[in-house]
Amino acid sequence: MTAQDIVAVRPDARPAGDVLLRATDVTKHYTLSRPRRTLRAVDGVSLEVRTGETLGVVGESGCGKSTLGRCLVRLTELTGGTVEFDGQDISTLSARRLRPVRPGMQLVFQDPQASLNPRRRAGDIVAEPLLVHRYGDAGAVRRRVAELFDVAGLAAAHLDRYPHEFSGGQRQRIGIARALATDPKLIVADEPVSALDVSIQAQVLNLFADLQEEFGLTYVFIAHDLGVVRHVSDRIAVMYLGEIVELADTEALFTAPAHPYTQALLSAVPDIDDGTQTASRERIVLTGEVPNPVDKPSGCPFRTRCPYAREICATERPRLTATAPGRLAACHFPLTG
Ligand code: SF4
Repeated sequence: MTAQDIVAVRPDARPAGDVLLRATDVTKHYTLSRPRRTLRAVDGVSLEVRTGETLGVVGESGCGKSTLGRCLVRLTELTGGTVEFDGQDISTLSARRLRPVRPGMQLVFQDPQASLNPRRRAGDIVAEPLLVHRYGDAGAVRRRVAELFDVAGLAAAHLDRYPHEFSGGQRQRIGIARALATDPKLIVADEPVSALDVSIQAQVLNLFADLQEEFGLTYVFIAHDLGVVRHVSDRIAVMYLGEIVELADTEALFTAPAHPYTQALLSAVPDIDDGTQTASRERIVLTGEVPNPVDKPSGCPFRTRCPYAREICATERPRLTATAPGRLAACHFPLTG
C-alpha cells in the first residue's frame, strides 16, 4: 500500500477531546500449569484515549496488544488495574451492570471470516446487537440494518447473503456495520486490515476515517504494520512484552523516537512514500531473542536487546514518564533525537 492510497485516512490536526477511556495499571496474567508459572500478557499498562482521536497500538506479535484491546472493552477480565469508560469504572462491573455500557464500546476483529457466523445471513448478523439491546420492533430493526449496510458501503440487495458469498473486504464491512449498530462512542479495531489484500486495505481504512468524521467515533487501532498505524493514528503507543514503552504524537514518534525499541522498530520500516528506507534512518538490527513473557527480564524488559543498556537497566524498571511535551517513554536513558 502506498501513502497515496491512504492519505485521506488521518485528518490532520484533529482537536483532542476529553478523556473517553482511561486505563490505569491494567494487568492481565495467565497462570500456566506444569510447571506452574505466570504469563504476563499485559503488565501494568496506563493510557488515556481522548474523544474523537485514534490511538494506535503497535508492537510485534505476542507483545500483548490484542489482549490489551480486549481488556479495554472488558471482553476479558482484568487481573489488576482499572478501566474507566465515559467516566465510569467498568473494570469490576458484573455482567448485568456491564450490559447497558456495552453498546458504547465495540470491537472489530482481525479476521472477518472467523468473526462472522457462517450459518447466518449478513443482515441477521448486523441485526444481532440491535435485538440483544432491544432496539425496537422488527420493522425498525430492518430499517436500521439497511441503513448500516449503506453506511458501511454494502448493497442492501446483499442482506440475505451468507458470509462466504462476500469478499474479504466486504466481510470486514459487515463486521464494521455490526460494530456500528449500537451507536458506539469507542471502537477497538484489532488488526482490522491485516487479513485483507493490500489493494482492499486502503478502502477499509478510508471507511474507518469517513465513519470517524461522520459519527465522531473514537478508535483504538491495534496493528503490527507501522505504516498503516502512522496514517490512521493521532497518537501511538508502542508495546513490548506487555508494557507500553513509548506513547507519543504520531509525527513526533516517527521523527524522533525516544525509546530504543521504537527506534529499532522504525529503522526497519521502509519510507512509505517511495518504498525506500529514509536516508537519515540507519537500520538497527536487534540482537537476542524476544524474551518469553513467562520469564521477563528484571528491570527494563528491553534490556536484553537494547544497545544502550547499562547497569541500572537490570535492576530498576523504568516508568513511563514524560520526556517532552506530548511524549512519554519508559527508559532510563531516553533518546534525544
Ligand atoms: Fe535500554 Fe536501559 Fe532504556 Fe531499557 S532502560 S530501553 S535497557 S537504555
